[in-house]
Amino acid sequence: MIFGMKVRKHDIQDMLKFNPKILEFHFSDSDLNIKLETNYDQQLIVHCYEYFEQKIIDMVSLEETNQIHSQNYSLSLIQKAIDKTVELGKHFQGKPTIIVHPGGYSLNELPSEKIQKMKDMLVDAVKQLDISKVNFLLENMPPYCWFYGGRWTSNMFLESDELTQYCKKTNLKICFDLCHSQMYCNKQNLSLIDELDEVENFTTHYHLSDAEGDEGEGLQYGEGDIPFDKIIPILNKYKNKSFSIEVWKGHQHGGKGFKYFYDKLIENGMIVE
Ligand SMILES: [Zn+2]
Repeated sequence: MIFGMKVRKHDIQDMLKFNPKILEFHFSDSDLNIKLETNYDQQLIVHCYEYFEQKIIDMVSLEETNQIHSQNYSLSLIQKAIDKTVELGKHFQGKPTIIVHPGGYSLNELPSEKIQKMKDMLVDAVKQLDISKVNFLLENMPPYCWFYGGRWTSNMFLESDELTQYCKKTNLKICFDLCHSQMYCNKQNLSLIDELDEVENFTTHYHLSDAEGDEGEGLQYGEGDIPFDKIIPILNKYKNKSFSIEVWKGHQHGGKGFKYFYDKLIENGMIVE
């Protein structure tokens, strides 16, 4: 696979020593002001911020609350990130990519009609964005998300069927997060291998970290439930697809956690271009 490295502006130099072919910027809301002085040999991926001005962005927000932006405002914030991605992309090779979380959050369990309503809003929401100058990838969600110290439920974009339907309707691809999917599989008693196979033709980029139970995410290699011995041979078929490691705090100490995970992948047979 093609190796991408998660970076923030201040640690780009540190992360370049790993020789990534892709730099994946994890945006926070202050990054709309980023300016780059140099050009890079890598491709660019931007991971869109998940909140802005201390409120959660949700593409299918049913209503604005104290904690969640309205759908319209959420879409305008995502558009700003897309436009910034296009601007930064001029310093990189090829067409830039943006990864966005679809939203669909609630603090409490929602009745199924409301969940269905949000699911039905998604394709139309994406169509409201100008994505002509980027590769636009929605990412599959974990069952729960932590925002502002509270546990939120993700009500959509969890299961492979839903992901592939979205891709067929929009002709767009996705970023498939194996950690998110493993947590969902643990909750629903599904197989990550089956989910991975099902989204194969619709995925261009993968996020890797280990996962435990239905809410233990971003774990180090081997600390969770992901059967890497079965996953790595599958990933090795995807020569022209890319991946980034998303281990919690992996960027600290010059990328020590990322390096540990990366070395474990190689040790266990992963082929990196
Ligand atoms: Zn991810």
